Amino acid sequence: MSGNPFHSRSAAFRDSGCTPRRVGYVSDVSRLEHIPIDERRRLEAVTERFNFRASEYYLGLIDWSDPDDPIRTLVVPREAELSEVGSLDASNEASNTVIPGVQHKYADTALVLCVEACGGYCRYCFRKRIFMRDSHEATRDFGPALTYIADRSEITDVLLTGGDPLLLSTPRLARLLRSLRDIPHVRTVRIGTKMLAFNPYRLLDDLDLQELLVEQSGSGGRVYLMCHFDHPRELTEPATEAVDLAVRLGVICANQCPIIAGVNDDANVLRELLETTASAGCPQYYFFQCRPTRGNETFSVPLVRGWELFSEARRGVSGLARRARFCMSHETGKIEVVGVDDNNIYLRYHRAKDPSDHDRFMVYKRDDTAVWLDELTPVS
Ligand code: SF4
Repeated sequence: MSGNPFHSRSAAFRDSGCTPRRVGYVSDVSRLEHIPIDERRRLEAVTERFNFRASEYYLGLIDWSDPDDPIRTLVVPREAELSEVGSLDASNEASNTVIPGVQHKYADTALVLCVEACGGYCRYCFRKRIFMRDSHEATRDFGPALTYIADRSEITDVLLTGGDPLLLSTPRLARLLRSLRDIPHVRTVRIGTKMLAFNPYRLLDDLDLQELLVEQSGSGGRVYLMCHFDHPRELTEPATEAVDLAVRLGVICANQCPIIAGVNDDANVLRELLETTASAGCPQYYFFQCRPTRGNETFSVPLVRGWELFSEARRGVSGLARRARFCMSHETGKIEVVGVDDNNIYLRYHRAKDPSDHDRFMVYKRDDTAVWLDELTPVS
């Protein structure tokens, strides 16, 4: 590790006596002073159902003079979330849960839900059920998860998720990463995180975390940070610095986000996101269709519209920024939208839960209002 040029830089930083910045969190809407008090009271009914949380740093990105500010839409509750439309588990993740905190949908990949909190709560979250009071979906004891993975040599890739794994303490994350590294067939570990958007100082100011990433991401195995930037305005100077730092630590970064009404359902915004993430060092990997999760109807963009935005956003950007796919995380697999014409929607399994669906191409009748596969009619 000492041969790594970053390591000596971080050691010098540590020796300089710099102290980490403390970023506060707000989890009570009554503290959002920019919102009129009667509105705050109404929003408390929303947060009784779906928790609210945001860092002071992230709240500072909001233009409060704009009621439709995309950062505000992303993180501040709205009454429309009280809609009863949708399921709390829209992709039927329960059917992939093999032991508490472990999902195993595709043979080569295991998901470990290792924490039940995020650095903020995206209002459109597809997994908001795990932030609800009586949820115990994430595991606090990693032992059974590690045994499950160690016993299955077909698992070559582990996705740490939740919640946000970067909310684990660094020593706890270190124990988990090192244990995974000890499993010979695990070749890549992905950390799904929005912390570089919600609080980039989590990485910038934690030298132990930086050294852990150096240690864990190298020729013996690779750590990927699956970043979650939804809007180019989230790529602030500290966020961009955090991505750059992660890259220099040896981590591979990629970005994934859903297309969300009021946040990024604009081709120019998506194009800017493609270009900004690519130049920052975490090129876009997926755009997702917003899942029909309870409370998410207000954030939903029809599939055809999503395709049009995705297609338009890619016009004129470099090949590097065009590698992203537009997918639906359906209970049967990750289904890519590959095209739309006047009559039909063309889909293909990018990842299939049932191996017989591998790469299967599907044609459905075009429906400009449908938001999910189950609402479409197949072309026979
Ligand atoms: S970062 Fe991901 S898991 Fe966390 S609230 Fe947002 S969408 Fe949900």
